This record gives sequence, C-alpha cells and structure tokens, in this order.
Amino acid sequence: MPEDRSAAPEDRNGNTNTDTDVVIAGAGPTGLVLALDLARRGVRALLLERADGLFPGSRGKGLQPRSQEVLDDLGVLPGVLAAGSAYPRMLAWEGTERRGEWDMIERSEPTERVPYANTLLIPQSRTQELLYERLTALGGGVRFGTALTGLRQDDGGVEAELGTGETVRAAFLVGADGGRSTVRRALGIGMTGETVDPRPMLVADVRIAPGAVADRDHWHVWRAPDGGVALCPLPGDGGLFQLAATFEDPAAPVDTTPEGVRALLAARTPLSPDEIAEVPWASDYRARAALADRFREGRVFLAGDAAHVHSPAGGQGLNTGVQDAYNLGWKLAQVLRHGAPAALLDSYEAERRPVAADVLGLSTRLHRATADGDAPQRGGEVQQLGLGYRGSALAVDTRPRTPGDALRAGDRAPDGPYAGGRLFDLFRGPHFTLLAVGTAALPDALPEPVRAARLPADEAYGTGLFLIRPDGYVGWAGDRADAGLDAYLTALGLTRAAAPRAVPEGMPA
Ligand SMILES: Cc1cc2nc3c(=O)[nH]c(=O)nc-3n(C[C@H](O)[C@H](O)[C@H](O)COP(=O)(O)OP(=O)(O)OC[C@H]3O[C@@H](n4cnc5c(N)ncnc54)[C@H](O)[C@@H]3O)c2cc1C
Repeated sequence: MPEDRSAAPEDRNGNTNTDTDVVIAGAGPTGLVLALDLARRGVRALLLERADGLFPGSRGKGLQPRSQEVLDDLGVLPGVLAAGSAYPRMLAWEGTERRGEWDMIERSEPTERVPYANTLLIPQSRTQELLYERLTALGGGVRFGTALTGLRQDDGGVEAELGTGETVRAAFLVGADGGRSTVRRALGIGMTGETVDPRPMLVADVRIAPGAVADRDHWHVWRAPDGGVALCPLPGDGGLFQLAATFEDPAAPVDTTPEGVRALLAARTPLSPDEIAEVPWASDYRARAALADRFREGRVFLAGDAAHVHSPAGGQGLNTGVQDAYNLGWKLAQVLRHGAPAALLDSYEAERRPVAADVLGLSTRLHRATADGDAPQRGGEVQQLGLGYRGSALAVDTRPRTPGDALRAGDRAPDGPYAGGRLFDLFRGPHFTLLAVGTAALPDALPEPVRAARLPADEAYGTGLFLIRPDGYVGWAGDRADAGLDAYLTALGLTRAAAPRAVPEGMPA
C-alpha cells in the first residue's frame, strides 16, 4: 500500500507529498536490479509488475563477466554461480550423424584483474528469482498483478496511475517495462531503429526425455532447408533445453503451442514428439535493434529494453539493462538521500545512451554475420568489461601526465589483490572508495559514504588517488587531493567530514 503522504513533506529537492521515493514499472532483470540497489541504499521504491509472477522463461541466458561483477557487488553472485554453468561446445548434426564441434564462446582463464572471465549460462528466470530473493531479504518486494497505466509529472514529483485505479506519487519514476514500454509511450519518446532480420524466430524451453539423441554436454545444431534448430542444455537437473529455431521464409507461420513445438522438432531433428516431455514456455519474435531517442524526461527515466532493444545475438540485452540500473541506482540515492544536485541525474543518459548505441551495433553485426552462416566466435567484445565512461562529466582526471595505457577516470576499476583479499571485497557495498596508490597521500578527512584505503604501487592502477564510484568506475583521479577532489565530492552531494581518521597501511579506513 502507498504510504501516508503526510509522512513525507517537501524534501530538500523540492519533492512534495510523495508516497514513495521511486516508482519502478517492470520487475524484469532491470527493475529488480534497480529495486535491489535502492533497497540497500535505504531509498523507498515501489516495484510494479503487470504479470502475476516473475517471468518464467530462459530467454536471456548469457550473463556476461561485467554483469557478474555487478551481481557480486549486489550480493547475488554466489547463488548465480551455483545455479549457472559454463557454455557447452556446439555440436553440428546431420540427422543422427555428428558433423563437428566448436566453441561459440571463447574461453578465458580468470586473472587477478578479471575474476569472472567467461559468459555464464543461466536461465533468465533463475537470475530473476535470485535477484528477487535478495530484494526480499533486504526488505523490498514486488507488487505483482499491478500495471502502470499512465503518469503525470509536475515540479514536485510524478504521479503513477495503476491498473487498480490507485495513484502513487513519487519523486522519480523509472520505466523498466520492456520493449513495449508503457512509460516510454506515455512520455511520447520515439524509438529509432531497424528490423535486423525480417525472418521470424521461435524461442522455447523444452524438456527432453533422458536418452534422446540430444545429450546434455553439447549445444546441438541441425540445419533444414526451411530453417535451423539449436538446442542448448540449461543448467539444473530438470532436463530443460532452450530451443531457438529460425525460419527462412519471412512469412512462415510460427506455432508456439506445445504441439507446434513438438512438430517442429520432429520435422527438423531425429527427436520424436513423445521425447519432448514438456514445453513450459515458448514465444516468437523478429530481431529488431532500436534506441530510445531520450532516456529521460524530467523526473522519469527509461532503462533496459524500454530504452534499447537488441537482437539476442551476443547476449547483450539483459546485461545492458542490468548495467543501466546499476548506473542509475546510486545517482538516485545521492540525490534523494545525500542532497546531491538533481543535475547529477543528467549523467545517466549521457553515460548510458552511447553505451547502448554501441551494444546495439555489436548485436546487429553478430546477428547478420551468424545469419550469413559466418557464426563468428564471441570473444572479449561481448563481455562488457571494456565499456566505460571516459569523457563523461563525471569522469574527472586531474593528473597532468599519464601514460597512454594508464587507468583513467571513466574506466572500470579492476580487481586485484588487497590486504590479503581482493579490491572487489573493498568495493563491495553502496559506498565510494578512495584508493591512495603508491606514494599518493590520503586527505585527512572524508565524508561518511567514502571509504579510504592505501595500496602499494600497482600494475593496473599505477600511482595516484582514485575515487571509485559505487558502480565500480573511476570517477576522479589525481596526484593530490587538493587537485579538485573536494569540488568533485561536493557535486555528488558529499562534503568533507571534520574529523580526521587514521588509515593503517593496506587497510580500509
Ligand atoms: C531469444 C532471446 C534470447 C536472449 N538472450 C539474451 C542473452 O543471452 N543475454 C542477454 O543479455 N539478453 C538476452 N536477451 C534479451 C533479454 O531477455 C532482455 O534484454 C531482458 O529481458 C530485458 O530486461 P528488462 O528488465 O529491461 O525487460 P523485460 O525482461 O522485458 O521486463 C519488463 C517487465 O515489465 C513488465 N511490464 C510491462 N509493462 C508493464 C507495465 N505497464 N506495468 C508494470 N509492469 C510492466 C513485464 O511484464 C516484464 O516483467 C534475449 C532475448 C531473447 C528474445
């Protein structure tokens, strides 16, 4: 239920009579990550989901290394790693004859800097369940069976209209409501893009009887004149595979009923219909690539598929949405809880829209190359570890000289050894971290949400002071704190604490 409005009079950002701080429409991966991040920051959020439960299908099954780092920070990764698996090798068939094996996804060894080096195979439904479990453990929740149907905004807040007839007033609203976003339409924001492939595709989860031709150690591929079939075994003991089928004829009818899926598999593979024990979920789609013309209108933001839709090639969609949410969460909290100027929120679109545009280009290229029979191996470009925010207004580097390959403001802050553990242990949580690397001196005092630590000169970091944002990117870098650190912190709503704190070598302050 919405809270008593009188409990929340006008706050320092001019938000008036709000029931909650943030309304989030859509409990897909994007909305769940945002709600979770806000919950751990003490920001009140109302997460609305039109459906009666979480999405049940395996759809976005590739979790990229950068998303694994995000989930590590959010405390979800142990469960995700336990529920996921490595991608199996592809196996091409002609009828019952094996025709060759290959790796679709390049395999890499973890390093000190990149602890999660490989795309993890985990059904989207499982990822969402684990996010939801963590959200509820933090006291948050989802209001299922409740659609957002409209919105109005004014100088003091946003009013969300719910399908139940209620209205809820919040300081901000985020549309994480998928490709057909009600929020985007209500704002009148266009999507600019193209059809990547006019031919339809079918994606489904199928339970295959043990002993059938498709073993669980390979990602099986059959080609037929009217289209291909791929069956990827999903981790877990339920015998589930994700089926992806293509159709050469753009006008081909796609039957998503269990009988239709059984008939398709029987026609294109040696599997017989009675070996398909169950089809718990199936859908059809045409690959599109489109980008919202804006990611923000006043107090309302778009994130995830609501802001960008991709071809599934290269496994980018879910991952990009997760990182939209991760970029936005701490900024909303700084504004709502720490008095940062609302202008901080401008950096969300400035940072995320160019990333989404690049990712769109990548997934379209991979889709077309795969459709042309080239099926390029997926390497580092899909892992999202190289994405960063150099050039953003929030990336401030005050060092007069840095080598060309040096870590710079805007870059992902790499992992590494730290005080018997890892830097990621130090970064984990909703705080900022100020790293003094090599001979750089820490300031005498820092505001409360900033933790400080010393690090010996380091191969990845070089030397200097590095302020690591809560989302794991270098925000500010300098040789000395008096080279602008205060001004940077103030712009984020962080002001210096009076009392100096002793910082032992190699230990967090
Ligand atoms: C075949 C296929 C394979 C894919 N593979 C990958 C992959 O390997 N890796 C990857 O990263 N991505 C992949 N994707 C893409 C991925 O599934 C999406 O990008 C991802 O689901 C987007 O998450 P989201 O939370 O932004 O939106 P969604 O998952 O679409 O969630 C939106 C939610 O909002 C709810 N909703 C809608 N309207 C309203 C409303 N008005 N009010 C309240 N709630 C509402 C919906 O019910 C839904 O639960 C794949 C997609 C397909 C189709």
